[in-house]
Amino acid sequence: MAEVTSENRYYREWFLVQTLEDQPRVELRRRVPPEHFEMVADDVHLIAPVRFRVRFSGSPQRVRVVGQVRTQVQLQCDRCLTDFAQAVDVRFDSIYLPLSEAPSHSQRLTQPEDAITAFFDQERIDVWLMIHEQILLQVPFKRLCRADCRGICPTCGANRNVETCVCTEEFIDPRWEPLVRLRKLLSR
Ligand SMILES: [Zn+2]
Ligand SMILES: [Zn+2]
Repeated sequence: MAEVTSENRYYREWFLVQTLEDQPRVELRRRVPPEHFEMVADDVHLIAPVRFRVRFSGSPQRVRVVGQVRTQVQLQCDRCLTDFAQAVDVRFDSIYLPLSEAPSHSQRLTQPEDAITAFFDQERIDVWLMIHEQILLQVPFKRLCRADCRGICPTCGANRNVETCVCTEEFIDPRWEPLVRLRKLLSR
């Protein structure tokens, strides 16, 4: 069966593949508080419990893992540098093979990329690592607090989403100058 090391600060659990000799399928449901779920990426912060369920089936030589992970992460916007929350809700369906079955580099070149996505060592699957990977896969490459984020003014550093600075107005038609000055006065 699975092992949980509860005496440690961080959640750790392994699924022993031999379990599938006796049981056709094994299901885990967990809810791990964010402070107990270790994130290796230091720019991805959990701000909600990690809730997941995974179902193991197949055989010890070929384990199918179907699961779902839900949580919330806090990321920093690439444009305005503000932290924002992003929901993670991902379903996955993977095949785990023993590491000894891993194709060599030359074989891999000729094998089609099918559903085989992962390998396990020592007859056990690291559940924390699996869930950790799924969370990171959900983090977008381009991190934006919102699609139309206006970013930071390169001149004065104002966050253009929350305040309108006058820097860009220097390029405005001189006839508008009195209006710009009035606006500066009013915004004081
Ligand atoms: Zn932003
Ligand atoms: Zn500015």
